[in-house]
Amino acid sequence: QGTGDGEHVAFYSQDMNQGMQERMRVESGLRHALGNGQLMLHYQPKFSIQTGHIIGAEALVRWHHPERGMVPPAEFIPLAEATGLVVQLGEWVLEAACAQAQAWKEAGLPPIRLAVNVSAREFTSALPGRVRDTLQRYGLEPSWLELEITESTLMHNIDRVIGIMDRITALGVTLSLDDFGTGYSSLSYLKRFPIDTLKIDRSFTTGIPTDANDCAIASTIISIAQQLKHKVIAEGVETVEQLAFLKDSGCDEVQGYLFSKPLPAAEFEKALKESWGR
Ligand code: C2E
Ligand code: CA
Ligand code: CA
Ligand code: CA
Repeated sequence: QGTGDGEHVAFYSQDMNQGMQERMRVESGLRHALGNGQLMLHYQPKFSIQTGHIIGAEALVRWHHPERGMVPPAEFIPLAEATGLVVQLGEWVLEAACAQAQAWKEAGLPPIRLAVNVSAREFTSALPGRVRDTLQRYGLEPSWLELEITESTLMHNIDRVIGIMDRITALGVTLSLDDFGTGYSSLSYLKRFPIDTLKIDRSFTTGIPTDANDCAIASTIISIAQQLKHKVIAEGVETVEQLAFLKDSGCDEVQGYLFSKPLPAAEFEKALKESWGR
């Protein structure tokens, strides 16, 4: 071991080769999945802390692989981002989410805001036009749609990013800042972003109420949001203690396993109706 002999090198490069083969296998599988109905969306409800009603949902992509079963997004989104395939994936997700929202609207369900995750690579000057066209095609009011973007999206070329954000919000589509507090964006930029909602990352929610640092971070994010007139939502809420702390701290909305896992469309629809007593 560590001798640098030929055998060792050969072993190592075979290992790398396997990694690359695995990547290529996943990539071509995902390409195939996009065209063959193997992708689907699940919907995780978002609740108003004040009223307890479902006021929105986050669309989360699922890959139903014929042999491997349900492949979680953590296993293919990073690869899709690295290869650029995330752009086509994002197009599929936006399309599917708008189709679903329109179906719910037609069925007379209580209006909600459906959030779609957007990767940094999708956040180009082509995005606002694509969002507008998709909404138009489905005859969907922009108030049904929200885009969740992560802090890392905001790190490169701030002025260009703000220009794109402005064009999106001008359509009436809202933006929320996902995984807030985990990136490196400067607080001084925060006031320049036309965002509607800050989303407290699960890594902070998890430590509430026992970890003093996580509590301090969560309540600080809530007060920043309040002062900047943004709404604030906490993700990954799993316990009643976390809920109580967030409620006392003035958090507006919550999402997490305490209330519901991400659900297939039909189950989400049932939960939405029940939540509004219909
Ligand atoms: P995210 O945007 O931070 O989404 C939240 C993740 O936390 C989801 O995992 C959700 O199922 C999970 N979660 C929700 N509540 C709880 C909870 O109470 N406890 C715990 N332990 N987990 C909870 P999921 O669905 O596996 O998605 C993982 C990530 O994949 C997402 O993180 C997002 O970054 C990415 N992703 C998912 N769908 C899409 C998509 O359509 N487009 C893009 N670009 N990324 C997506
Ligand atoms: Ca998200
Ligand atoms: Ca998140
Ligand atoms: Ca997160």
